[in-house]
Amino acid sequence: MPEFRLYNSMTRSVEPFAPADGETVRMYACGPTVYNPAHLGNFRTFLFADLMRRSLKLAGFKVRQVMNLTDVDDKIIKRATEQKKTVREVTEPVIGMFIADRDYLRIEPAEHYPRATDFIVEMVDLVRRLEMKGIAYQADDKSVYFAIDRFPGYGRLSRLDTRELKTGARVAQDDYAKENAQDFALWKSATPDDEACGAAWDSPWGRGRPGWHLECSAMAMSLLGETIDIHTGGVDLQFPHHEDEIAQSEAATGKPFARFWCHGEFLLTDGAKMAKRVGNVSTVEDLRSQQVSAAAVRHLMFSTHYRKQLNLSGAALEASMEAVRRVGDFAGRLAAAPGGTPALATVAETFRAEFDDALRDDLNAPRAQAALFVFINHVNAELDKRGSDVAGLAAAREAFARADAVLNIVPEREGVDASLEPWVEQQMLARKAARGRRDFAAADQIRKALEEKGIVVEDTAEGARWKKVR
Ligand code: AMP
Ligand code: ZN
Repeated sequence: MPEFRLYNSMTRSVEPFAPADGETVRMYACGPTVYNPAHLGNFRTFLFADLMRRSLKLAGFKVRQVMNLTDVDDKIIKRATEQKKTVREVTEPVIGMFIADRDYLRIEPAEHYPRATDFIVEMVDLVRRLEMKGIAYQADDKSVYFAIDRFPGYGRLSRLDTRELKTGARVAQDDYAKENAQDFALWKSATPDDEACGAAWDSPWGRGRPGWHLECSAMAMSLLGETIDIHTGGVDLQFPHHEDEIAQSEAATGKPFARFWCHGEFLLTDGAKMAKRVGNVSTVEDLRSQQVSAAAVRHLMFSTHYRKQLNLSGAALEASMEAVRRVGDFAGRLAAAPGGTPALATVAETFRAEFDDALRDDLNAPRAQAALFVFINHVNAELDKRGSDVAGLAAAREAFARADAVLNIVPEREGVDASLEPWVEQQMLARKAARGRRDFAAADQIRKALEEKGIVVEDTAEGARWKKVR
C-alpha cells in the first residue's frame, strides 16, 4: 500500500505521514470564534479537517481530534460590549448554531471541543512557565508579552526574516499583519469593558484575560500532549496565529509543537475571500433555506483540492446538486439490486485502490470523487446485465460504502426527514426477512406500520422499494 503523504507548510513539501506513536493521530484543528454563525468559508476549513480525519481513519489510523471554541477574544468582547451582554451570553447561542451547522454538513464530531474559558488555569500556567524562562515579561500596561527575540525559531513557519522582526515593540491585538511582527500579548490586563462583560480572571499579573494565540497552545498541549501530530487551520492563520502558537509552546517545552502544519485555502465569492468584513458571506442557514443538501455542499468543497482556492458560485452549486442526485440514485439502485455480475469484484477492487491512493496523496479528494463517478458508470453497466452473482454485488456495495464513509455525499431522499429514513430502512429489512421465512402476516404488519408514517412499499423485479406519499 502506498504511504500516506501530506503537505507540510513548515517544510513546504509533501512528506510521508504516520502518527508518532504509530497508531493514533493527535490532531488539533483551530475552531471557530463564536461571536457570529460560521460562514461557508469557515466551513470549507472545517470540512478540510473532516476530510483529513476520515482519510486518516480509512488509512487505518485512529484519530484523536481537538477543535477549540474560541469563546473569549477581542471580537467577542467588542460584540458583548455593544450589546451590553456577557461574553457567555454572546457565545452560548452561537456555539449551539455551530453544532447544528456542523451536524447539517455531516462533519464527523471531533473527540473534544474545549472552550477557551474552561482552560484559564492552564493558560496562566503556560504564561508562568514562559515568565520563569525569561521569555515573557510584564509591560507598563500590565499586560504580559512574549519577547520574540528570546525565541530564535520565531518566524520559521511564515518565513519571516529577522530584519522584519521589530524586537522590543509590542502589539496587543489578537490579529495583526506581518509588518507588525512584534512582541505579542500572552495575557492582557483587564479593561473596564472586559470586567463588565465577564471577560476577566485573576492571575499573578492582576486581573486580565488570555490572548487568542495562547488559548490554542494551552488547550492543544493540555488535551493532546506537548508534541501533536497534525495542526490544521485556514491559510490566514499561518501568521500571526500559528507562528505565535509555535513560539509559546516550543519556548515553554523545548519540544516541537506540531509535526505537521496543514493549511486549507480560501473559499471565495466573486473572486474575493469570503469574510464578514467583505460582506460576501453565506451561511449554512442560507443553503438550508435554498434546499441545498449537505451532500451537494460536501461534493462542491471536495471537488477542488484543499490547497487551491475555490470559488463559490450558483453554477458550481447546481452542478454539485446534479452530481449528488446521481450518487443518490446509484445508492438506491445498488441497495435494491438482487444480484450482480462476477466482473463487479474487479470493478470494486480497481475503484478501491484508486480511491485510497488519491486520498493518501495529500488528500486528493477531487481525484477520489472522479474515481467514484467512474465506478458508478461501471457498476451501472454491470447491473444493467441483471446478473445473479452475489459476491460481485457485495464487493461493489462494500467499496461504495467505504468510499462514502469518507465523502458522505449520498443525499437524503426528498421529502423524508433524516431521522425517519434509518427507521424505514430497518423496517424494509425486517419485512424482507419476514417474507423470506414466509411469515406474510408479519410482513403485512410492517407494511401497515410504514403506511401509517406515509410510506408506501412497492415490490419490483429488483426488490422492494419505498417512497413517501405524504
Ligand atoms: P475564525 O472563526 O475567524 O477564527 O475562523 C475559523 C476558521 O475559518 C479558520 O481556520 C480560518 O482560517 C478559516 N477561514 C476564514 N475565512 C475563510 C475562507 N474564506 N475560506 C476558508 N477558510 C476560512
Ligand atoms: Zn488556533
